[in-house]
Amino acid sequence: MGGVWINTVETTKLQTPKPAFHFSDFPWPDSVPELFPNQFQVLDYLRSYAHHFDLIKDIKFGTKVLGIKYQGASDEEMQPWCLWGWKWGALQFKREMGVEHPCRVLYRTEHWNVPDYNPWGVPLPYLYLNRFSELMVHKPGEGFLLSLLATILAPLRLAFSKFVESDIEKKLRLAKFVKLPVLASAKKALKFKVRTTRFQGEKNIKDIFESKTFQDHILGSPDAAVPLYRECIHPRIPQLAVIGFSECVANLYTSEMRCRWTAELLDSTFKLPSIKEMESYSAKWDQYLKRYSGRYYRRSCIGALHIWYNDQLCKDMGWNPKRKKGFFAESFEPYGPSDYVSP
Ligand SMILES: Cc1cc2nc3c(=O)[nH]c(=O)nc-3n(C[C@H](O)[C@H](O)[C@H](O)COP(=O)(O)OP(=O)(O)OC[C@H]3O[C@@H](n4cnc5c(N)ncnc54)[C@H](O)[C@@H]3O)c2cc1C
Repeated sequence: MGGVWINTVETTKLQTPKPAFHFSDFPWPDSVPELFPNQFQVLDYLRSYAHHFDLIKDIKFGTKVLGIKYQGASDEEMQPWCLWGWKWGALQFKREMGVEHPCRVLYRTEHWNVPDYNPWGVPLPYLYLNRFSELMVHKPGEGFLLSLLATILAPLRLAFSKFVESDIEKKLRLAKFVKLPVLASAKKALKFKVRTTRFQGEKNIKDIFESKTFQDHILGSPDAAVPLYRECIHPRIPQLAVIGFSECVANLYTSEMRCRWTAELLDSTFKLPSIKEMESYSAKWDQYLKRYSGRYYRRSCIGALHIWYNDQLCKDMGWNPKRKKGFFAESFEPYGPSDYVSP
């Protein structure tokens, strides 16, 4: 119970502030006053969530998923499918890092601080996690007005970035760090073997399928973003939701929203569009990612458009996407998991 949080490097802490990393209906206990809880506190929190909602009985422990396959049609029969029904499937990424592949992380404590979410005293969520901030960014498939606004506000986005960057530069003493490259001397003096974790998310997600057809579908074209509709399901792979492949600044919050969307889909409270429409959505995300992430487009992060993305999930589920009271709060107050407690 607890996934990556069971076994982390000593002194690991949450990088996301606590208010953004919690389940909407399960606040952190008062016994954790820290803004950035450590790994034991995160683990406790996840475990108490599972106990509180009696989820343990639904988890099969000590079992490794070796592969998944769709029971029913064969690969050939699936090729021409245009419409399919939804039941349930599950996918978990295989975690490769373990005792067979140990790794060491080299870091300098003086320079690498816990992130500060108050650059020059201004809370970061007011700069990046409200609706106004999302107006500064172009969106997949946006209309003329949103596109115009994003273009007009681009200089302000740059100013925000420079403002935050100057604070980071000062706090982490980066200018000094660049002049005195400590890692270069450390490399000579210390006999450290640095290995990567070998974590290959794309390979894992592909290999889990027994079907060659699904293996080919899931990752899509190598020069496009992984084609998941709503960052969650593949239009041509039935009965399967992928939670957690596309990331965000607070993954628990994002994953919870996706799980709720998937649950509503399974309950048939809304219908999916056609495969063509879903693929067109993915193509628009692909363009957006290439515009902003350059060569790192392949794996999605919805961070810059978190509220806009949640709006889409809400609309699908028939929820009101606007979760604040009044124009000012709606435009400038930061959004977080607590805004989505109830439908
Ligand atoms: C050091 C560290 C710090 C992080 N800090 C943050 C942070 O501050 N904020 C944030 O938002 N995110 C952070 N993350 C990202 C973090 O991965 C996610 O927030 C979240 O824990 C992912 O949860 P998950 O359930 O999707 O995956 P995981 O936590 O990876 O859980 C997957 C589980 O599935 C199991 N599993 C894998 N393959 C199989 C198989 N074949 N069969 C059966 N079981 C299998 C694994 O053993 C594991 O228990 C951090 C990650 C790390 C490693």
